Amino acid sequence: MAENPKEVKNFRDLGVCEQLVDACESRGWVVPSKIQAEAIPHALEGRDVIGLAETGSGKTGAFALPIIQALLEKPQPFFACVLSPTRELALQISDEFTALGAGIGLKSVALFGGVSMSDQQISIAKRPHILVATPGRLFDHLSNTKGFNLNMLKFLVLDEADRLLSMEFEKVIDDILKVLPRDRRTFLFSATMTKKVGKLQRACLKNPVKVEASAKYSTVDTCEQKFRLVPAKHKDCYLVYILTKMTGCTSMVFTRTCETTRILALQLRELGFKAIPISGQMTQQKRLGALNIFKAGQADILVCTDVASRGLDIPSVDLVINYDIPSNSKDYFHRIGRTARAGRSGIAVSLVNQYDAEWYLQIEKLLNKKLPEFDSKEEEVLMLSESVSEAKRRAIMAAKESSGNKRRRKGGDDDGDEDGETYANYQKKSNSFKKKSRR
Ligand code: AMP
Repeated sequence: MAENPKEVKNFRDLGVCEQLVDACESRGWVVPSKIQAEAIPHALEGRDVIGLAETGSGKTGAFALPIIQALLEKPQPFFACVLSPTRELALQISDEFTALGAGIGLKSVALFGGVSMSDQQISIAKRPHILVATPGRLFDHLSNTKGFNLNMLKFLVLDEADRLLSMEFEKVIDDILKVLPRDRRTFLFSATMTKKVGKLQRACLKNPVKVEASAKYSTVDTCEQKFRLVPAKHKDCYLVYILTKMTGCTSMVFTRTCETTRILALQLRELGFKAIPISGQMTQQKRLGALNIFKAGQADILVCTDVASRGLDIPSVDLVINYDIPSNSKDYFHRIGRTARAGRSGIAVSLVNQYDAEWYLQIEKLLNKKLPEFDSKEEEVLMLSESVSEAKRRAIMAAKESSGNKRRRKGGDDDGDEDGETYANYQKKSNSFKKKSRR
């Protein structure tokens, strides 16, 4: 989370009341995030606020705390309504309100499509203080739920306004705005300031103050970032090609699933690379074992899930390969932060196939630039095809055999599995399998 700029040390400094300072502390929030430090004082002064901030920046707190503080002064049902583009986000925001308002009996309800209207009507009948809703479902209730209106509403929040609008909620948002009281406060949060967001801002905010959490995600200039478009079926060939081109580098290869780390590490070993897997499926002890092997230089390729993109004490590497593009763009920044540390240079290459192009575009959006393509000669890549497929076949068989052995050792410890803590152990098993399968 971005640090706040003015060295604001606590929520009290921002004007947050004691009850809510305590609520923040019980959530583990001690120091306000940048967007909180920027937005909360203006919001508490009674201004409308436009916040440019991403999910993950602490923006929910930035609008929830001023709303709850105002509610404490004049409690009433249907005090605030937050519009969110997705049900997941609506639930998350509603939970945050409930958690922050736990000590004051705050009631928050999330309304979204895909579930029964009647259950939600019961929740609405309990007259919650806060509604967090996706626009379509809110409008359904405003049109069809007897006795329900938002005539007393004091605060409206448009969260992720850019997404709200790009998802063609424009018309329904217009319809909702028409039935909300004009005498209210409005907060608009958006990751980017698009034209549509600007239009919405003019339509529903009064003399707003604009605050921004500076780019939460950044990459260092010494990290050369590239991508390579690859057909999914040749992804392994491209990986091997890049690793071969970059011989002598220490590398981390990021995959999406634990199972892929295991198979891919075995496959790379079949091809003569010194690769070792690390994933969340391994015990802490085994992860540390694999890490030590990597740190000691006995393996120079760490095949990992995002478990290794943060939190673990891994030395800087020369090369990061995104074998799978992360579905959560934040992880991209954590991953490539593993290279080009402390002024050193590094390369990050993302393998983008037809299925994860969308996620890659999302990353480019956050980077705010187009990355150059990693140069490769297709004929050379495809020449690897046969050996790479054969290695994969063997890797899958080895993984199956090892799982079978584990099952047979039922009840015993599994120290000797392929994630084992000594490289010699790992090497021995993989070699013995190689011999067997080639017989
Ligand atoms: P948000 O951007 O609102 O989705 O928040 C992202 C995460 O940061 C959530 O898990 C919040 O609980 C957490 N968070 C929000 N504000 C703070 C803070 N001041 N200190 C620590 N964590 C926070």
